[in-house]
Amino acid sequence: MNGGGTSDALVIFGVTGDLAYRQIFPALHAMIRRGQLDAPILGMARAGSSLEALRERARQSIEEHGDLDPAAFATLAARLQYVGGNYEDASTFEALRAALGAATRPAFYFAIPPSLFATVASGLARAGVAGDARVIVEKPFGRDVASAEDLNHTLHAHFPEASIFRIDHYLGKEPVQNLLYYRFANSFLEPIWNRNYIDRVQITMAEAFGVRGRGRFYEEAGAVRDVVQNHLLQVVSLLAMEAPGGRGTESVRDEKAQAFRSMRPLTPADIVRGQYVGYREEEGVAADSQVETFAAIRLHIDSWRWAGVPFYIRAGKHLPVTATEVLVELKRPPVTLFEDCAKARPNHFRFRLSPQVVLSLGARAKMPGEKMLGEDVDLMTFHEQPDEMAPYERLLGDAMRGDQTLFAREDAVQEAWRIVEPVLGPCAPLRPYQPGTWGPEEASRLMDHGASWHNPAQDWGGA
Ligand code: NDP
Repeated sequence: MNGGGTSDALVIFGVTGDLAYRQIFPALHAMIRRGQLDAPILGMARAGSSLEALRERARQSIEEHGDLDPAAFATLAARLQYVGGNYEDASTFEALRAALGAATRPAFYFAIPPSLFATVASGLARAGVAGDARVIVEKPFGRDVASAEDLNHTLHAHFPEASIFRIDHYLGKEPVQNLLYYRFANSFLEPIWNRNYIDRVQITMAEAFGVRGRGRFYEEAGAVRDVVQNHLLQVVSLLAMEAPGGRGTESVRDEKAQAFRSMRPLTPADIVRGQYVGYREEEGVAADSQVETFAAIRLHIDSWRWAGVPFYIRAGKHLPVTATEVLVELKRPPVTLFEDCAKARPNHFRFRLSPQVVLSLGARAKMPGEKMLGEDVDLMTFHEQPDEMAPYERLLGDAMRGDQTLFAREDAVQEAWRIVEPVLGPCAPLRPYQPGTWGPEEASRLMDHGASWHNPAQDWGGA
């Protein structure tokens, strides 16, 4: 927490943009509906918009993303203000200061391209409104180690770390929070949660669709920048971290950062890069694009807990399903007493992160009958509705209250770039794969002897 209570105004830079439309307006509407937002909301954009246009855009966004509650929308519309102007002009920030009125701890949401952060941050400082403010920024936080450092310097010139809220919306997801909860709410896990009992960990984030018209954006990213450096390494950190030393926000973030520090930088031998056939025909994509739409990665963590346990990470577009799953495979019993177990699945934990939320412990149990023959069973909890509260609603509320727990800290973000930097860009051959498959065959060669990728099913069926 950076103390000082709840923000008394929310200022959205880039309010006319895609992120505001897709995520921020629906989140504000939901917060108001729950009675969790009573601050004024100021939308900032270059000249050309108007308060009426903004209200209409908010209405469209909320209608498109869910059920509009007329009372909540009326409140939102009444709270909205519009401040237009060029971000290069001091007058824009003077107008903002006037609109902020008596607010002393505004939250500034930078829903704008990162190239504008420096201009906006210094404009706020010059207008004297940065002092006790909070600033909320989006991924991608940099493109590599150097640009992430630059971005941090830019923000730190005007805002202390405790006031900077870096959104990785994955951390706001219910099932991702559940990883932290499950690990440290249960005592049975700790004795086996290490290299003595765990063989390997797999994380697959599969999308059954392509770039959905965002080819231009994707050309600048690729799978490693888009989801591995941020979402999937955050998941690894939650699986790999030590128990926090206390209950404070920083104790969780300290342990996550320590886990990141123990992760070995990837080498080109640790990655298989793929590109789906047809990607180069997408709008905005270069005819000779070398950008990966699939990455399979082998990661090592040099810690006493994890040394020698590979973490396999796989993310791709146009795979057979849309699902994200973690599989933690346990070692087999040291002696095979029952022959039918020799080829059975090893014990494992499965954390289904989407579309459903499932926690499952895979074990063997004897089938009724005379013979000592068993079957695979799953002991599990299952939630069909993963997110009662959407990640942006949760994160926006947390940021306005000053609770940093679910936000990425400077050191963790930079460490994550350090880990992936050697495999950014065309570091290894790009393998074509057919849409609807599990990516290039070469991905299976990353696996240690005797292991294979676990392919999640579209629907949870214990598959
Ligand atoms: P947009 O490209 O839609 O831009 C947002 C707004 O910024 C625009 O509406 C525009 O508003 C303003 N803007 C853009 N370029 C300039 C410029 N050169 N000078 C002044 N203003 C400018 O971006 P998104 O909304 O898609 O994304 C915003 C941020 O969120 C980015 O950092 C992006 O990476 C991140 N993000 C976006 C996601 C999404 O779903 N869209 C998901 C995750 C992260 P106006 O012209 O009205 O001033």
